[in-house]
Amino acid sequence: MILHLKNNVAHDRAEEIAASINAFLIHSEGKHVLISGAAMKEVPGDIHSEVDEFWVFDNDIQLASKKYRSEKREVKIGNVTIGGTNNSTLLIGGPCSVESEAQIREGAELIVDMGLTTLRGGCYKPRTSPYSFQGMGYEGLMLLKKMREEYGLNVITEVRDATHVHDVIEHSDVIQIGAKAMYDQGILRACAKTNKPVLIKRGFGTTLKEFVQAAEFVLSGGNENVILCERGLRTFETNTRFTLDLCGVAWLQEHTNLPIVLDPSHAMGYAYGVPVLSRACVAMGIDGLLIEAHRNPKVAKSDASQQLTHDEFRALLESLKPVANAVGYKMI
Ligand code: PEP
Ligand code: MN
Repeated sequence: MILHLKNNVAHDRAEEIAASINAFLIHSEGKHVLISGAAMKEVPGDIHSEVDEFWVFDNDIQLASKKYRSEKREVKIGNVTIGGTNNSTLLIGGPCSVESEAQIREGAELIVDMGLTTLRGGCYKPRTSPYSFQGMGYEGLMLLKKMREEYGLNVITEVRDATHVHDVIEHSDVIQIGAKAMYDQGILRACAKTNKPVLIKRGFGTTLKEFVQAAEFVLSGGNENVILCERGLRTFETNTRFTLDLCGVAWLQEHTNLPIVLDPSHAMGYAYGVPVLSRACVAMGIDGLLIEAHRNPKVAKSDASQQLTHDEFRALLESLKPVANAVGYKMI
């Protein structure tokens, strides 16, 4: 249940009520908002006079639910805003991993040259094998920070575990919680305590409900800047790396109030499928598209087969513009 307390309820009293009903207390749009589990179906008699509005739910998708807030939430990433009624699809591009200063600089220059704003690049890579490139770690994060400062770009990078979550929060504009990390409570709880936007990628065996509940961890801790990212599920199919769940995206659009970003690069696993899938994604009216592009994909240290060349990435944006326009969106 979500309860909005009346404006005249003092902060101390709001905390007391939250403790008494074992609820989270957050402050949203000038209101004291209490969130307890969906098992709570009635407002307790003793706090009735202090409650302004309340919402009852069938399950623990609450703050993210359209039943609570029918309008899509806005998330500000530096000086760009996605979600809400902006009808903008933010194209986020860059390599899978930061590999060297020269490489990430070329990525940054591509983004700037194309008039885009947001550069991706992983530093703490959650690899499947311990023998693969594990990312440059803090050194890579410092390179990304340098690009952020020199080129005035927004940067998005992933957190692998809670040991470096605070460094990523400090030096990035969007914190990416990867498909393998989305169940990590240390990460989710740390991200709940910042106001930086958090992009949560859906695990490849994660139900929609589990996915949105991960978002609820961040929202109920007080960070309202949450973005969902679909990046493909594991199915029986082995010819493509994963299977992009566009049905799931339609479900999320219908039932949740969170901005949605799609990542066809990781879903497909092969560069040839990325442009056509991107056009399908943009045609759904989405808030962002996350695409891997590398100056020389053949020698990329991670995800080599799926990264677009810089020329392919430029051509992709041009091909997406009319698709976005056809559904009342614009590429930003
Ligand atoms: C990535 O974005 O490079 C990545 C590792 O993504 P995911 O967590 O979706 O596998
Ligand atoms: Mn990758």
